[in-house]
Amino acid sequence: MPTVHIAGGGVAGLVASIVFARRGWQATVYERSPALRANGNGFPIFENGLRVLEALGLGEGIESHGHRLEHWSIYRSSGEKAAEYEPFSATGGRIVMFHRQALVDLLAEAAQASGVAIRSGSRVVGAEAEGAVLLEDGRRLDADLVVGADGIRSAIRRAVMGDLPLGEHRKGALRLLIPIEPGDFPDGNTRVGREFNDPSGRRIGLLPCSPNLMYMILVNLLSDPEAGRQPVDVELWSATFPMLRRYIERVGDQGHYDVYHSIVPPAWHAGRCALIGDAAHGMTPALGQGANTAMMTAYSLAASVSSGPSQQEDLREWERRLRPLVDFTQKYAEGITAGRLDPNNDIFFSDPGLRRLLEANIPAEFGVAAAA
Ligand SMILES: Cc1cc2nc3c(=O)[nH]c(=O)nc-3n(C[C@H](O)[C@H](O)[C@H](O)COP(=O)(O)OP(=O)(O)OC[C@H]3O[C@@H](n4cnc5c(N)ncnc54)[C@H](O)[C@@H]3O)c2cc1C
Repeated sequence: MPTVHIAGGGVAGLVASIVFARRGWQATVYERSPALRANGNGFPIFENGLRVLEALGLGEGIESHGHRLEHWSIYRSSGEKAAEYEPFSATGGRIVMFHRQALVDLLAEAAQASGVAIRSGSRVVGAEAEGAVLLEDGRRLDADLVVGADGIRSAIRRAVMGDLPLGEHRKGALRLLIPIEPGDFPDGNTRVGREFNDPSGRRIGLLPCSPNLMYMILVNLLSDPEAGRQPVDVELWSATFPMLRRYIERVGDQGHYDVYHSIVPPAWHAGRCALIGDAAHGMTPALGQGANTAMMTAYSLAASVSSGPSQQEDLREWERRLRPLVDFTQKYAEGITAGRLDPNNDIFFSDPGLRRLLEANIPAEFGVAAAA
């Protein structure tokens, strides 16, 4: 039985582990945290991510754990509507909000049911390109393939490619969950995502994950540090977004603040080591595609690589097929983050070139219907 050791139990590592295990590999996930925990609270899963989940047979989980949005409205800070997306017609795809922990739990359950061994509390400290992973407890474990799914500061990447500089961007964001209160949705329909942009670079997203819980993201320029302070300055943010005071008052000292980073390594594989997710292609979150893209690269790697003599060719072919789409997505997101594209217009695959690439790269070989 071929063996794969996967560093990192985030969405990328879990998706890959399920597919490897179902293809007959002995798959083990090493996660440094004592339990599989999801930072970041909530996120939208777009058509590409949903198709990966469906290809894993998790369609029912999408229904039971996700919250499908019917509209996504973009407003200026003045309250004037700038754009309105109806997910099916404008973007060619669905948008389903997830509480992150619910998604990780769903994937972990599927991984265990598929025979994946999850070793939490196991930090990976290095790897060897010949096919070995090094654990903090001193063990060196051989594998037919080592997968770095250990995030933007990947130890696997560092071990096989050296210290590569992370892309620095000019923004950061606070993410949290707030309870939904009566009056938050005037007509009672919680299937609406709302985003508010101010020319100062401040942005607030309000995205319900369920009828009771809302994912909230507050974005600021790093050159505007007052807006990045915790606890959030209610008066400062309410002065920019007066109509959102009721939500800003619910933030308090909750949430986790992250500065935006990206990484573009020269290759996604070296010897018997492959990188997926943020370890391979961490990107700025302007398009909400980091985790969605991570699921695609993870699925495609595990679905296409072999343990035999063709492995190097399989890895090259996997990267050749996926990388143009992912590079394009990274650049597109970066363009919005850098202010070169208008966040009121240029979001969510409105670009036909990106949509064509996306549709061509969804892993159709595993029974996923072609894009509508
Ligand atoms: C502000 C912000 C907003 C975002 N919004 C969105 C969004 O709306 N939509 C979206 O799709 N994406 C979004 N993202 C991006 C998304 O969070 C990432 O792209 C996604 O989590 C990547 O998944 P991953 O599994 O590759 O890495 P991670 O989620 O980082 O998981 C890596 C895992 O590896 C573990 N690990 C790390 N090092 C080691 C080690 N040495 N040994 C063992 N385990 C290790 C970590 O504990 C973690 O569990 C956002 C990111 C930010 C910063």
